[in-house]
Amino acid sequence: MSKITHPEPAQAPEASTSLYADRVKVYPKAVSGPVRRAKWVVLALCLAAYYLVPWLRWDRGPGAPDQAVLVDMTHARLYFFFIEIWPQEVYYLTGLLILGAIGMFMATSLFGRVWCGFTCPQTVWTDLFMLVERWIQGDRNARIKLDAQPWGPAKLARKAATHAAWLGIAAATGGAWIMYFQDAPTVIPQLLTGAASTQTYFFFGLFTATTYVFAGWAREQLCTYMCPWPRFQAAMLDESSLMVSYRTWRGEPRGKAKAHDAGDCVDCGACFHVCPTGMDIREGTQLSCIGPGASSPSRAPPTWPPARRLPRPSRLARSGCWPAWRRARYLR
Ligand code: SF4
Repeated sequence: MSKITHPEPAQAPEASTSLYADRVKVYPKAVSGPVRRAKWVVLALCLAAYYLVPWLRWDRGPGAPDQAVLVDMTHARLYFFFIEIWPQEVYYLTGLLILGAIGMFMATSLFGRVWCGFTCPQTVWTDLFMLVERWIQGDRNARIKLDAQPWGPAKLARKAATHAAWLGIAAATGGAWIMYFQDAPTVIPQLLTGAASTQTYFFFGLFTATTYVFAGWAREQLCTYMCPWPRFQAAMLDESSLMVSYRTWRGEPRGKAKAHDAGDCVDCGACFHVCPTGMDIREGTQLSCIGPGASSPSRAPPTWPPARRLPRPSRLARSGCWPAWRRARYLR
C-alpha cells in the first residue's frame, strides 16, 4: 500500500528586497568659481529679503497697519504694499499661485532645476548651515576625520558650537516668520521678553525646529524622499533645456590618466565629492540632482578635472565640452 504524502503547505514568499535604505552621510567639499559666486549672491539676496521685508513700512492712513507686507489674521486682511486683499478676494492669491507655478515650469523648461539649485529655501538654508559647519569643523576631509574620531573635548566643542550656531540661525528664521503675521517692531520685543502669546511661541518654536531639522539634519534627504518637485520636473525638460550632465561617450570607460584605452574620466571622484546631495552624476540624471552646478568645471576646485588630453576648465566651459553646461538629452 502506497503511502499518501501531503505536500508541505506553500510558504508565503519572503520579501527579498528591503525598501529601506540607511542614510549615507554626505560631506560636500567646498568649491569656488563663477557659478558658486552667483549662488552666494542669490543666497544673500534671498536671506536679506526674508529677514528685512517685515521691517519695511507703508503708510495706509490712520487705523490701518503700516507694515508693508503683513498677513493680519485677526482682521482677515493680507497687505502687500499698496495691495489689500480681503477674504472674499482670495481668488487673487489663487491666480498668483497659478502664475507662480507656470513661471516655475517655464524656468525649469528653459534652464533646468534653477529653482532647486539656487532659490529653494531648502537649498538656501542648507547652504548657509553647511557654510557654518565648514567654518567650525573644516572642509570635507576634516569633517570625515572629526566624525570618525572618538568623542573628546575637542570634538564635543566643535559639534556643540556648530549646533549652537545652527539653532541661532533657526531661531532667527522662526522669529522672522512670525513677523510676517504680526507687527514686527512690536512682536520681537514681546518675543524676547516673554510677553508674546502662546500661539506666537508655538509657531516660533515650530519654524525654529523645522529649519534646524531640515537644514541641519535632513538636508538632501528632504529632496530625495520628501519633496514632490523632483518627481515631476523631468516632464518639463526637453532636449533644449540647459542642465549639467555627464557625457558618457566622452568620459567612459573610466580609467587612470596613464591608461591609453580609457575615456576622459579619470575617476577621481571630484564630481560627487562636491555634490550637496552626494549623487554620482556619471550614473545619469537623477531626481536627487538639484542642479546647483557643483560638478561643472566652473565650480570645481582649480585643479579639477585632472583629466588626460583635456583643455583647462575655463576653455571647457566656453567650448561646451564635457561636463560643462550642455543641452539635456532627457527624452532620448
Ligand atoms: S528637490 Fe524640493 S526641497 Fe529639494 S531643492 Fe528642489 S524644490 Fe527644494
